[in-house]
Amino acid sequence: MTITPIIGIEAHIELKTKTKMFCGCDASHFHADPNTHTCPVCLGLPGALPVPNKTACEWCIKLGLALGCRVNHSSFFERKNYFYPDLPKGYQISQYLRPFTVDGILDLDGHKIRINRVHLEEDTGKSVHLGGDTLLDFNRSGVPLVEIVSEPDINSPEEAKKYLLKVQQVVRYLGISDADIEKGSMRCEPTINIKIEDGDQTFYTPLVEIKNVASLTGVMTAIQFEIDRQIAQFQEDKIVKNSTNKTTRGWDAEKQQTFLQREKEGSADYRYFPEPDIPPIEFTANDVEAVKSTLPEMPDQKIKRYINDFGLSDYDSNLICESIDSSEAFEYGISVFSTEKENIKKFANLYINGLKEHLNKENKEIEKEKINPEQVFKVIKMASGNVVSSSVAKNLIVQSYEFGVDVENYAKENNLIQVSDTIVIEEMAKKVITDNPKAVADYRKKPLSVGFLVGQLMKASKGSANPTLAKEILEKLLSQ
Ligand SMILES: [Zn+2]
Repeated sequence: MTITPIIGIEAHIELKTKTKMFCGCDASHFHADPNTHTCPVCLGLPGALPVPNKTACEWCIKLGLALGCRVNHSSFFERKNYFYPDLPKGYQISQYLRPFTVDGILDLDGHKIRINRVHLEEDTGKSVHLGGDTLLDFNRSGVPLVEIVSEPDINSPEEAKKYLLKVQQVVRYLGISDADIEKGSMRCEPTINIKIEDGDQTFYTPLVEIKNVASLTGVMTAIQFEIDRQIAQFQEDKIVKNSTNKTTRGWDAEKQQTFLQREKEGSADYRYFPEPDIPPIEFTANDVEAVKSTLPEMPDQKIKRYINDFGLSDYDSNLICESIDSSEAFEYGISVFSTEKENIKKFANLYINGLKEHLNKENKEIEKEKINPEQVFKVIKMASGNVVSSSVAKNLIVQSYEFGVDVENYAKENNLIQVSDTIVIEEMAKKVITDNPKAVADYRKKPLSVGFLVGQLMKASKGSANPTLAKEILEKLLSQ
């Protein structure tokens, strides 16, 4: 019996436009006093007319293009009818038959996930549950929301996570949303069923959509729970009827399980029809070209260029291109020696193992302006000429970044210039041997443990001793 999970993901991204999708209200709603960013349009009052936000339409197309989609030259909005307290009009303006963009691809390390569509709609209001009461806040009502619908090409919870991180990365590169899952500016609804091949028979379990998952870990756990539940259900029933309608299940983060919300729901239930108050929207080939020309270099292209032009590893390139800020800071750092592969590689190493590691510890984001390319170049030259050790070089990069020091002066003033004078190192080695009798005894039994003593010597010299010489001299003294 072969079991294959079939997973598709609908991801919603709130665009960070200044104003809402169909009115001039302020679209920022996090931490705003309830119901202060509203007007007759986003409150759904009778007679109020929606006017589409041009920037939101362009950003949706930008994202579609970045995900390899094609733009429909003529699109229209539709009304998706359903009743819910946070939807004052009784319908959501969305896109159904003719979305802005369709048929894209997202490459996950060679596994191509097809994108069905990237379309634009409006967000709903928010229900706030207080004690036994439910209050409504319409600040979020009408905020532009892009929906990215994948085909069911994802096969595991881990792959779902990878997919979402990649979507998030692309969105952030474009600067159209902060796409924060925990904050709610990115939301996702996985759709799952299982393909079961048993001999020459193939079964599909009924399709389930999971709602209310509010974290990346939650998405993975919810998908795994649903995979296990559906397989267990199949083993109990043995027979599965094919059904095109899907069941909606909610995710209970506390109990770590999904629960039934609505059964058998199809698009017909929403009675979609074209929005009569908004004329069809046309995009000419020129319009599309104009949007395309504003696309930045995307992560996949950047990584490829780093590997081909700079000779960096796939792993290092991925780390550097994690965010657009990180890659821009890196490229700024190498701007004075951008044609020298060897130096670029050296900086990549200092950047990842020195600067990024330091920032990770401090829990800070990189700031491009704090990088000084001239100082970076000096550090590389000093390290290449063995003027400073590699560990001192990492420290110098951080000092230049945090305090704007001149790295040459700093190294001299702090006695960080690499000591290759054998007499000086021998003095230090003798002291290390006297101070560490236990480590010396260990060394006699296990010569490989010399590393500890070298470490002590490096520490005593504040990283300035030439480590190769330090090891040689220690070994020489210990063998006497
Ligand atoms: Zn409004």
